[in-house]
Amino acid sequence: MDLTDFSTGAQYIAGRLTEGTGTEPFQVVNPADGSVVQHVTLASTGDVDTAVAAAKAALPAWSSATPGARSEALLRLAAVLAGHAEDFARVETAQTGKPIKLSTEFDVPGTVDNTSFFAGAARNLEGKAAGEYSGDHTSYVRREAIGVVGSISPWNYPLQMAAWKILPAIAAGNTIVLKPAELTPLTSLMFARACTEAGIPDGVVNVVTGAGRGAGEHLVSHPDVAMVSFTGSTPVGRRVAELATASVKRTHLELGGKAPFVVFDDADLDAAVHGAVAASLINGGQDCTAATRAYVQRPLYDAFVAGVAELYGQVRIGHPLNPATDLGPLVSYTHRDRVAGFVERARSYATVVTGGQALGLGHDGTDLNPGAYYLPTLITGAPQDSEVVQGEIFGPVLVVLPFDSDEEGLRLANDTPYGLAASAWTRDIHRSLRATREIQAGCVWVNDHIPIISEMPHGGYKASGYGKDMSQYSLDEYTQLKHVMFDTTAVARKDWHRTVFGDR
Ligand code: NAD
Repeated sequence: MDLTDFSTGAQYIAGRLTEGTGTEPFQVVNPADGSVVQHVTLASTGDVDTAVAAAKAALPAWSSATPGARSEALLRLAAVLAGHAEDFARVETAQTGKPIKLSTEFDVPGTVDNTSFFAGAARNLEGKAAGEYSGDHTSYVRREAIGVVGSISPWNYPLQMAAWKILPAIAAGNTIVLKPAELTPLTSLMFARACTEAGIPDGVVNVVTGAGRGAGEHLVSHPDVAMVSFTGSTPVGRRVAELATASVKRTHLELGGKAPFVVFDDADLDAAVHGAVAASLINGGQDCTAATRAYVQRPLYDAFVAGVAELYGQVRIGHPLNPATDLGPLVSYTHRDRVAGFVERARSYATVVTGGQALGLGHDGTDLNPGAYYLPTLITGAPQDSEVVQGEIFGPVLVVLPFDSDEEGLRLANDTPYGLAASAWTRDIHRSLRATREIQAGCVWVNDHIPIISEMPHGGYKASGYGKDMSQYSLDEYTQLKHVMFDTTAVARKDWHRTVFGDR
């Protein structure tokens, strides 16, 4: 099957692509040059209703399939995804502008690995052993699917985010309607088509490509959606939580981040500099765990700033399809302008050491002018309470600040509303133990920053949300526990009845 053929529409409902009933046209644009990758029609609320109905109809059979059957389907899906790896990488790069080497080496293999992981995890859902906890009863716990899951995903890693949402939901026996970001719907649609190619029954995985306020809010509020799983910004997450609360739905929120990168004075400076450059520029800095605030202990501060500035100058900006390109354009012109706004405002209160809009020719001769390119940007001298230190810029921008005592460094690291990820750079075991204990974030790396693995949970503290993606822990989000209690006495008048009527 050609997963990239969208000629029959951009809504994936009940196992096929359809035009849907929406009337609002939308262009998926390649931010490298402004060309149109795909014309789509945004989903109407009626399309959301149809997709939810398809997911509801598919639920009884899918939730009662054996874990082994669901596992086999996911193993087949992993093989189908791997078989279409090149198409996935090419389309992901076209709709996001991310370098092809990132799509090829990270997004696609990460998604295949996640799929294989959940094929195994589907057979390892566990609960407590049955037992006589009351003396007069045998109790056991059933772990059950929740129902139809409504998921909403962002544009930064569209394929991986679709996988993170869909895989644990269906591994646990739920069915799903996913609404990807308007800007980047294509690889989510391809993923859904791959599910059908792998033999996953129609209606188990549906994708509606609509607007946040229209289709998104309708999905979150839909009475037949039992759970809402959202990845995106903290302000939209708040809105999603409000809507879900009104209809008492379980929510899982993976929100924004502002990851600190704490360099103690005994750190390997070279490793810290390389780590900061890679972790701040991955995916153009459009990564919720990207290093955004480097706190560097005073003795290493000047050398660290100089080292990052030098390496930033060596980054190859160019066409994202060129395998040698390190940094492509940002996802859209609007987003590029938003990032530039943060940097321009910072000029009044901080020093912009390098950076700004990328114009002229890239390393490969690409004309950068029509693209949404932005240079790696290093900022120093910003106050801790300033916008560039506190706010999520979501671009290739690193702010560096000095600190003196270890206490101060850790306090500053914790001093934003976010708590998604962080790293500590030190060769001292006690410092690293202290940092990993005291930093309030869902992930703390030591002497590295960015790697993720399918077996380990990903999720936030504080305003970065709650709930876990990936790993066995994500299955807790997508299942509910039922206590089943059997009477073992076989008597009509049970001991506890005397608290209600008569005495023994
Ligand atoms: P966003 O919050 O603007 O949009 C995310 C999704 O929500 C999109 O699909 C959008 O259409 C939808 N949406 C917008 N308004 C809505 C509404 N009122 N009701 C329902 N849905 C609505 O985020 P973005 O700009 O697409 O992505 C970047 C953000 O995502 C950053 O804040 C980043 O940190 C976050 N993110 C977090 C994680 C994580 O794991 N915590 C991972 C990736 C991205």
